[in-house]
Amino acid sequence: MHILVSGAGVAGLSLGRVLGMRGHRVTIVERADRLRGNGSPIDVRGDAIQVAGKMGILPAVRDARIRMTEQVHFVDENGTAIGRLPSDIGDSSDDIEIAREDLSRILADALPDIVDLRLSESVNSIAEHHDQVDVVFASGTSESFDLVLGADGMHSAVRRLVFGPEQDWIRHLGLYVAIIDMPREAEAERINPMYSYPGHLAGIARFKDKAIGLLMFASDPLDYDYRDIEAQKRILFDRFAGCRSWKVQTILDAVRADPNIYFDSVSQIHMPTWHRGRVALVGDAAHCASPLAGRGTSLALTGAQFLAEELERGDGDHVLAFPRYEDRQRPYAAFAQGTVEGGGALLVPPTQEAIVARNKLLQPVTAGQ
Ligand SMILES: Cc1cc2nc3c(=O)[nH]c(=O)nc-3n(C[C@H](O)[C@H](O)[C@H](O)COP(=O)(O)OP(=O)(O)OC[C@H]3O[C@@H](n4cnc5c(N)ncnc54)[C@H](O)[C@@H]3O)c2cc1C
Repeated sequence: MHILVSGAGVAGLSLGRVLGMRGHRVTIVERADRLRGNGSPIDVRGDAIQVAGKMGILPAVRDARIRMTEQVHFVDENGTAIGRLPSDIGDSSDDIEIAREDLSRILADALPDIVDLRLSESVNSIAEHHDQVDVVFASGTSESFDLVLGADGMHSAVRRLVFGPEQDWIRHLGLYVAIIDMPREAEAERINPMYSYPGHLAGIARFKDKAIGLLMFASDPLDYDYRDIEAQKRILFDRFAGCRSWKVQTILDAVRADPNIYFDSVSQIHMPTWHRGRVALVGDAAHCASPLAGRGTSLALTGAQFLAEELERGDGDHVLAFPRYEDRQRPYAAFAQGTVEGGGALLVPPTQEAIVARNKLLQPVTAGQ
C-alpha cells in the first residue's frame, strides 16, 4: 500500500519504521523544515519498551539513556533547596529516559529506504473516494494514497480536516508549559531546581551537556496562534516579567534568545473514535494525555506498532485493522490520561497556602543530594 503519514514526531517516525518494515510505501510529510528535537527529555516506559524491541531500536534507545528527574529540588526565592519530590513519584526503574532529539534521530536513522520523508510540507485537503484518498499539499502538489494517518500532534491538521475542529476534542487542564534551551546553564551545578510562586513554576533541568528552562503557569484557555513563536514569547513575558525572584529573569532572557521554544497548553484530546474511512489518527493527534502524564512518547510507540500489526493481520484491510488498532490502544491511552489527576496542583499550586501544603510533602534534602 501507499500510505501517507502527516507529522514526523515520535508517532509519525514510528509509523514510518513499522509500516516500512512490512513493505508498505510510506510518505511522511513534516510541516517543520527539520526534525524537531527540542523540548524536555521523554520516557519510554511500560509496554513501549517491548515495542521498541520489536521495532529494532531498543539497543540504540538504551545506549542513549539519560537520568535527569531524580535530582529535582524545589528551591525558595533565593535558590536555597527546600525539599525534593518523593522518589516514588512518577518513574519506575525500568523506564528509559532519553533526549527527544536522540529518539528522533534513532527513529529517523531506522527508516527503511521505502519511506520518503518530506520536510516543509503539510496537508491542505483530504478527499476520500471509495478506494483511495486524494490529498492536496501546501506546496500545491496533489497525490493519491491508500490510507492517510494523522500523526501530527495535539493540533493535528488531519484531525481538523476529517473529524472537525479542535475545540470539539480538546480538554484544557488549566496550565501552559514552555521549554527553553539554556546553553549558558549547562555547566552549572548538577541538580534541577524548581521554584514555585502562586500559579507559576520556573525551573532549570540539566541532562547530557544541555540545560533547559521550564516555565509553567495556570490559566484559562488563551486566544493566540499556537504556531506563532513571537506570540508565545509575549505571553511568557507578560506572565513572568513581574517576578524578580530566583532565576526567573535569567530564564526569560533565554526565552528571548531561543528561536525554537516549545510552548503549548497542557491539554488532552478525547475522541469517541480515531478512524473514519481510510483515515486514522495515531499519537497525540488521537489521544494526547498532556505532559503531566509523561507517557505521550510511549503511547506514540505502542499506537504505531498496534496499527501496523493489525494492518498485517487484516491483510491490509483497514476496515478490519483500524477498529482492532483502536481496541488495543484505547486502554493505554485511557490509563495515561487518567494519571494526570492532581499533578498540575502539585507542580503549580494556585496559592501561597497551597505551596506551603505542597512543600510539606517534599522530602528533606540532605548533604550530597
Ligand atoms: C517540538 C516539540 C517539543 C515537545 N516538547 C515536549 C516536552 O517538553 N514535554 C512533553 O511532555 N511533550 C513535548 N512534546 C510532545 C511530545 O513529543 C508528544 O506528546 C509525544 O512524543 C507524542 O508524539 P506525537 O508524534 O504524537 O506528537 P508530536 O511530538 O507533537 O509530533 C507531531 C509532529 O507533527 C508535526 N506537525 C504538526 N502539524 C503538522 C502538519 N499540519 N503537517 C505536517 N506535520 C505537522 C509537528 O511539527 C511534529 O513534528 C513536544 C512536541 C514537539 C513537536
